[in-house]
Amino acid sequence: PTSHTAILARGLGIPAIVAAAGATGIADGTNVAVDGTSGTVTVGVEPAANSADLPPARAARTHVDLAGLGPGHTKDGHPVSLYLNIGSIKDVRTGAQGVGLLRTEFLFLGRKDSPSRAEQHAAYLELFNAFPGARVVIRTLDAGADKPLPFLALPEEENPALGVRGLRTARLRPEVLDDQLAAIASAAAAAACEVWVMAPMVATPAEAADFAARARAHGLQHVGAMVEIPAAALRAARLLEHLDFLSIGTNDLGQYTMAADRQDGRLPDLLDPWQPALLELIALAAEAGRAAGKPVGVCGEAAADPRLAAVLVGLGVTSLSMAAAAVPAVHAELSARTLRECRELAERARDALDPAQARALVSRS
Ligand code: PEP
Ligand code: MG
Repeated sequence: PTSHTAILARGLGIPAIVAAAGATGIADGTNVAVDGTSGTVTVGVEPAANSADLPPARAARTHVDLAGLGPGHTKDGHPVSLYLNIGSIKDVRTGAQGVGLLRTEFLFLGRKDSPSRAEQHAAYLELFNAFPGARVVIRTLDAGADKPLPFLALPEEENPALGVRGLRTARLRPEVLDDQLAAIASAAAAAACEVWVMAPMVATPAEAADFAARARAHGLQHVGAMVEIPAAALRAARLLEHLDFLSIGTNDLGQYTMAADRQDGRLPDLLDPWQPALLELIALAAEAGRAAGKPVGVCGEAAADPRLAAVLVGLGVTSLSMAAAAVPAVHAELSARTLRECRELAERARDALDPAQARALVSRS
């Protein structure tokens, strides 16, 4: 569920199931019902005569209207900003509170050369201007591993997820990062929104300091890092000495915490975002943010699960970012819970033995 194919499908509102063993054995022409929410595939169903027969919530998903929802908050009024994860202009929805993760890989896909500063400036400005007055958190290029980008000519690796990916690519191609930061800064200066910039795959305080210095040298004022590596969560307080905010990428933090490849469909139990070990690391990062008085959000797929969103708020995260389709349900769940309840749920989930028990303890309330 956290592979990029699944993330793209979710962003498009397409019901999808991954790792459906035996799917290739279904005979051509068989009618199949796919329920992406429950993860069930029913083979040999009668086709619905028209889309009016579909449950309305599902039919509506591709046309999410966020206008009128208002800012996210708990039942007792504790604010929790609900932002969008976007990867291109097609993901933009009006009425959103802002963007918590703008993935920039779209500009670099299928290229032989890096896009010029002018091209990047134009693309970023168009996206920034879609959110006037709001906050847009843009992430610098996250190439490598599950997002291979040929133009970087990264060396072949046995274990690309543990190799030169994310911010690490700047060790080999520093000019690519500098061009991107220059383009982000010039677009930010021309835009009518508040631009925050963050780096993917930061592991150490030294990397955080180096990225912050580079970004600030380009005039960017709000600089942060993603927490995707357990080392970053464990040392979040040290990272925050150099940064203005953190954003927890639970997709990668989950895979690195459990040493389970997020693209490996055979390990769903280990990649489950309800893993108590993952929740412990999130709590550490959130606590570091609270102590420093700096925001710590979640922008991985975990934020899109309404119950887990309440747990994340209870762990202390200050914002949640997700595909537009997930916002209404998360908004509704948080509006129905006080902050105190969220904290109680978080306690239970953290104390659970495994994801199944964590879910059961939370859903009982
Ligand atoms: C994450 O790792 O949780 C994340 C949001 O980044 P990506 O899915 O793009 O790796
Ligand atoms: Mg990631």
